[in-house]
Amino acid sequence: MEDKTCAASAAGADGSARRRFLKLASTAAAASVLPAGAGAAAPAKPGYDVVVVGGGFAGVTAARELAHRGARVLLLEARNRLGGRTFYSKFGERKVELGGTWIHYTQPHVWAEVMRYGMEIAETPGVAHPDRVLWMSEGKVLEIPVMENWALLEDALKRFHAEAGEVFERPFMAGLSAAGRKLDHLSIADRMAAMEMSPAQRDLMNAMMATNCHGPIATGAYTEMLRWWSLVDGDAARLLYSCARYKLKDGTAALIERMAEDGGFDVRLSTAVAELSQDAAGVSLVTEADERISARYAVVAVPVNTAGQIEFSPPLRPGKTAMAKEHHAGKGHKLYLKVKGRLETLIFFAPETELFTMVFTDQPGEDGGVLVAFGPPLDGKVDLNDPKAVEPFVRRFLPHLSVEQVLGYDWGLDPYSRGTWCTLRPGQFGKHLEDLRAREGRVFFAGADIATGWRGFIDGAIESGLQVGQAVAAELRGRA
Ligand SMILES: Cc1cc2nc3c(=O)[nH]c(=O)nc-3n(C[C@H](O)[C@H](O)[C@H](O)COP(=O)(O)OP(=O)(O)OC[C@H]3O[C@@H](n4cnc5c(N)ncnc54)[C@H](O)[C@@H]3O)c2cc1C
Repeated sequence: MEDKTCAASAAGADGSARRRFLKLASTAAAASVLPAGAGAAAPAKPGYDVVVVGGGFAGVTAARELAHRGARVLLLEARNRLGGRTFYSKFGERKVELGGTWIHYTQPHVWAEVMRYGMEIAETPGVAHPDRVLWMSEGKVLEIPVMENWALLEDALKRFHAEAGEVFERPFMAGLSAAGRKLDHLSIADRMAAMEMSPAQRDLMNAMMATNCHGPIATGAYTEMLRWWSLVDGDAARLLYSCARYKLKDGTAALIERMAEDGGFDVRLSTAVAELSQDAAGVSLVTEADERISARYAVVAVPVNTAGQIEFSPPLRPGKTAMAKEHHAGKGHKLYLKVKGRLETLIFFAPETELFTMVFTDQPGEDGGVLVAFGPPLDGKVDLNDPKAVEPFVRRFLPHLSVEQVLGYDWGLDPYSRGTWCTLRPGQFGKHLEDLRAREGRVFFAGADIATGWRGFIDGAIESGLQVGQAVAAELRGRA
């Protein structure tokens, strides 16, 4: 099924970018994540307690929690599928995750869902057990034994994150400590500039950090990386595994489908909200198709980079309006490459000046296989759906390979995401996060982008959805 909702709504983008977006959206065939009875045609019934705006993991979790507590819930989703920044799509004979993919038992909220619904887990071989690690430094490809490479990276990671224990003694608590406030103005690049490293170690570290922040390292906050490090108790291997080892065998689509089915709430797909107002009696929403829907409360679970597209009345707190303009820094790309030639289980890194910063084996094979790649924002400079455009980069590492097919999805151009995972920019944590998380009267806010623990991850989306679901349910009980 095409993600036509996104494609048709990319009108805000400039002409060439829009055309590129349409092409990307139409090549990415979505898995069917439609709860029974859901669809644009399903009429909104009167008398909802809560309208949830946004059907990613945060919105679906909040809707499920509320419905399980007896609330009448309607979820409105702009796209023609649930899942938001997760997108399980066909790629040749297989299916791949174009958005959020990896989960880990260090991530308590998503892992609880895996256990609850009995989901099966698969592993990504290039990260789980690479036979080779290569990286580009000063234009040359370097390779040393895997464990020596790891020691080089681990040494840099430990020194880079030296302040993590002091800043995030309890990384799951909301708010930034006094120590964190002192460092919040620093970017990842600022902190790296203060470290002594050989050029080879610096380029390896640059690749790792540019991948983690999914944007230029000058745009990502140092405090964000300290938080990740604290969440894995300063264990470099656990950090890498938490980010890219375990995934859902049947895809993220299977999990969100189970959650939505279990929830038993009403869903309207292809229904973008344009306006949201409130008064003492309740909330009133106007869709892009000019339909009016009312309820007692609203949960807004849309990405912070897109929240500015909804007109709120009365206006939101300064942190929310500022963030809608500034955006978070996660704007990079993710791509799958089907290659011809022997593909081992390997991983390669390159600094952020290159097309990709991290590439690893998704599926090895004697005659070919699949690589998954991450890189910095390209702003339309390279056509990521053209195998020939990316092949020269791959051949610098593995000259015997040819690239046969590629599939990416431009989350930066997608009007309902305007970016990838949330990495706050320097200063945004201290200045805006409290405002972003705060309820405004009858309107509550949820999302991975404003979670406390694994912010920017599927786990954070579920954490936030659980908390907000509970908060709104308590409110409904109090006012019943
Ligand atoms: C390329 C990429 C790779 C990633 N890799 C990982 C990973 O490996 N592991 C991991 O844990 N996380 C990863 N993430 C991050 C993770 O996918 C997200 O943080 C998480 O899924 C966000 O969930 P959410 O519910 O907060 O937001 P979203 O999933 O963005 O959901 C918000 C929903 O709101 C809808 N919406 C927006 N505006 C409106 C409107 N006006 N009206 C109605 N609906 C609207 C959107 O269509 C969307 O469905 C990745 C993300 C990307 C893009």
